[in-house]
Amino acid sequence: MNLHRYALSFLTLLVAGTLLPVASAQPARDFDAEIEAALRIAKQAAGTEWLGTLSRICLLPASGGENTSDNLPRYVADESLIPPREDWYAEPAKVFDNLYFVGGSRHSSWALTTSEGIIIIDTIYPYNSRELIIGGLEKLGLNPEDIRYVIISHAHGDHIGGAQMLQERFNAQVVMGAADWELVERYPNRYATMSPTRQNGLGITAYDGMEITLGDTTVTLWDTPGHTPGTLSYTFTAYDNGRPVNVAYSGGTAFNFVNNTPDPGIGNFQIYIDSQRHIAEQAAAVNASALLSNHSEFDNAVNRNRMLAGRGDGPHPYEVGPESVQRYFQVMQSCARAAQLRLEEQLVQ
Ligand SMILES: [Zn+2]
Repeated sequence: MNLHRYALSFLTLLVAGTLLPVASAQPARDFDAEIEAALRIAKQAAGTEWLGTLSRICLLPASGGENTSDNLPRYVADESLIPPREDWYAEPAKVFDNLYFVGGSRHSSWALTTSEGIIIIDTIYPYNSRELIIGGLEKLGLNPEDIRYVIISHAHGDHIGGAQMLQERFNAQVVMGAADWELVERYPNRYATMSPTRQNGLGITAYDGMEITLGDTTVTLWDTPGHTPGTLSYTFTAYDNGRPVNVAYSGGTAFNFVNNTPDPGIGNFQIYIDSQRHIAEQAAAVNASALLSNHSEFDNAVNRNRMLAGRGDGPHPYEVGPESVQRYFQVMQSCARAAQLRLEEQLVQ
């Protein structure tokens, strides 16, 4: 096509476009149908295993703004506001040959044992990490002095709460995403008693695909921003009576990120959706057949721990299979898509 003809046809298109009758304009999007479709996919993906995650994130309204407050958490400001022990205590449990549960009834902490010491994954609250993590390790016959690394999935008080204490007591290196280190450093009151340092080689800033290796064991870290800007998820291998079981660990779930990042809108949901795709791909790449989280609400950890006790020769209660692990991340993606569509709908109205 020569330039003249190109210009002519462009002009024709332009005129035709101007003269197009209103009826041929794009039909209005049916947001209700799109939201319904996303919810249907999420519900199907949830099956019976992931109903906790489904009900939490498919029903939560999506709204908020950036949280720039730097207030002391209630339970740090006033000890009388620390929840009573019966609200959070849970028994520690040996889950795999090399993985132990040392969390509470709602929030989880895990100890991965290696040939060179212990890696702690998430640290619950400042008020219960001493009893549940240190006390739990001792109860399980492990030595807290062996803690070398503490990996924090994201910098919220229910997961970073014990990091400073473990770092100070055991000289443990704390690993966290760059953006969440920045949160900790920017808000000294919000993180009072729970601000590990990355000075003096005691802190490690994670990057996508980073491997934390201790002795014979490696945890691979994956950037999954969304819940917080620095949220990490992981893949690693656990052993069930010597048999390897690959684990995918989901580091951030609820949509409260709208309160923690500058863009409380559609873009944040897209970041979250892309992150779930990313960790789902990494889980598939290692054929992960167990899914762990940092809340029992999402992975059913406390119930599964009870099932372990009565397992006998039966299947491992955490080993749901690769297809179920993938469905977990589908629930997260589709619930986020439904929430994103609700925002899009508001914008066009
Ligand atoms: Zn959180």
